[in-house]
Order: sequence, then C-alpha cells, then structure tokens
Amino acid sequence: MVHGRVAWTVVCAWAVVFASVAAGSLCDISGQAQSPDDFPYSRVRTESMALRRLLNEGIEKSPTFREVVGTINKTNGLVYVYEGRCARTFKACLLLQIQSAGPNRLLRIKVDTRERSDVEVIGSIGHELRHAFEILEDARVTTPEHMVGVWFRGMKFSNERFETNEAIQIGIRIREELWRLPRN
Ligand SMILES: [Zn+2]
Repeated sequence: MVHGRVAWTVVCAWAVVFASVAAGSLCDISGQAQSPDDFPYSRVRTESMALRRLLNEGIEKSPTFREVVGTINKTNGLVYVYEGRCARTFKACLLLQIQSAGPNRLLRIKVDTRERSDVEVIGSIGHELRHAFEILEDARVTTPEHMVGVWFRGMKFSNERFETNEAIQIGIRIREELWRLPRN
C-alpha cells in the first residue's frame, strides 16, 4: 500500500491518518515516579484512563519499560498512546507520521486492548515505544520519509520489514519482568 513517495507502512502495521492532538489535554506518564498519582512531566502520554493505568503499571513494575520511557524523556519527542485497531493482525503500531509542534516532534502509537491481558498490552506498548525512540534519538528525523530512512539505514532488522530486533527483545523482556511478579 503506497501513497506518494513513501510506502505508508507503519511499524508493525499500516498507516492511518495522523490526527493532530492537543498536547495539553493529555495525561502525562513519567519514567521516574513511584506512585500512579505522582507522575511529573513526561514525554509519553495518553488521554485514555485505561491506558494511563497500564502505562503507570509498566513504569512501576518493569525496569525495561521504565528505561524505554526514560530514553524518550531525554529527546524532544512527544509520544501519544491511544486505544485503537491496527491493520492486519497487528496488536500495536507506531504510525508512520511525524509532526513538528514548536520544539517538539510528535509521534503516535495505537494499541489494541481488546481481550488481551494487561501484560500483553504493556509489552506491546513497550515494543512500540522502542520504535519511537529509534526515530526520536536522531533530531534530524522530521518527515515520514526520514522515518523510513532510519529503518533502512543501519538498523538491525529482523525478518519483518520495518521491524527491529531491539524492539522485539524489549517487548519480550517487559512481558517476562511482569509475568515474574507475584499475582494478587
Ligand atoms: Zn516492531
């Protein structure tokens, strides 16, 4: 599926329209806080209370999830996570769109929460946050074409197009860390 000069494949899914989001209306998620009610400013955000709970849980209980959020907090990126369906059978996707908003670059992640365990959803989000960091770590990446270039240039690829071994491993580690925790 190609529109214009780039294949609008998104990481782990296919592209959808990237709607503008008012940054101030979204909840903030931190990579540092210890209490769900005590999160200072963060660059990973959601307007969904359900996702906010899961992001908080990932940050509190998974060192790997906390670390990937921390890496994004050191960039000029703002990553918005929201509930939605990705194309094909993908359970989460980073949209192949990037928006400049003042000094910030905006990315969006969609995640399917239907009939999935909290651990699976948190693992999927962590996987996509790693993809977001792969974009945000290079401040010169400001267009979808640049995004495609990042994954074609020097990344370690898995067998899947636009997939990276780093993201796969982070998703696995997050799930392992959370599954190891005692259940209430
Ligand atoms: Zn991926």
